[in-house]
Amino acid sequence: MSELAWDEYQRRLVEDGAIVFVPVGAVEQHGYHLPLGTDWMMARYMARRVAEKVGGIVAEPVAYGARSQVRTGGGPHRCGTTSLNAETLIALLHDVLDEIGRHDARKIVVIDSHFENRFFLDEACHRAQGTLALKGRETRILKMLYAERINPDTMKAVYQGIDNPPGLDLEHGGVLETAMMLYCYPDLVNMSRIVDEPRPDFPPYDVFPVNPDWVPTSGCLSSGKTATRMIGELLVEEFVGHVTEAVRKEFP
Ligand code: MN
Repeated sequence: MSELAWDEYQRRLVEDGAIVFVPVGAVEQHGYHLPLGTDWMMARYMARRVAEKVGGIVAEPVAYGARSQVRTGGGPHRCGTTSLNAETLIALLHDVLDEIGRHDARKIVVIDSHFENRFFLDEACHRAQGTLALKGRETRILKMLYAERINPDTMKAVYQGIDNPPGLDLEHGGVLETAMMLYCYPDLVNMSRIVDEPRPDFPPYDVFPVNPDWVPTSGCLSSGKTATRMIGELLVEEFVGHVTEAVRKEFP
């Protein structure tokens, strides 16, 4: 989007009925070996790959996301984890969607890459669709966490050689994200900085203020040391397929 002239953008929306992709991520610690921008960069990567397949336009990402939670993202307390208040995120995404719809985009895809965003993005999409409908726009929005589903065979390959796999609940800065970043942004991964700490054993509740002792020192909830570029390729290509399938189904 940012590389197009306005009239070219307009032509793509109005004449071609192009799908507009809005990546939404987070700026959040992912251990010592992955960059703070891991989530939003992966959302943008996914949006670009799927947009290429369906002739879509990738809008600028909403890089910041909802507050990191201890049991899913290692928590809000580490330096660099720069989150939005829920109200800000809802308002920000609402306004972006409302503007894109006002300019006659009828098909918008929101690509989410950060678990904590989920319900706030739902709220923003719901409100934006309502606002646009009141203005007489027939905009439809598809929202998807790109890693919503994983094929069990892929999971087996991901955790091959690990006796006691951490599972998706502890996959923050672990094998999945590390492998995907090795495939998509290899220059930004430093495998030599991965530490193998005991995994956290979270209680089934949260406390405020957070107790930093609940989270391993690195900030990762499981170790990414067995990650490879090949595992990353397997995961990324599967997710690109899932998102493409969803987009083609809803916006034939
Ligand atoms: Mn995240």
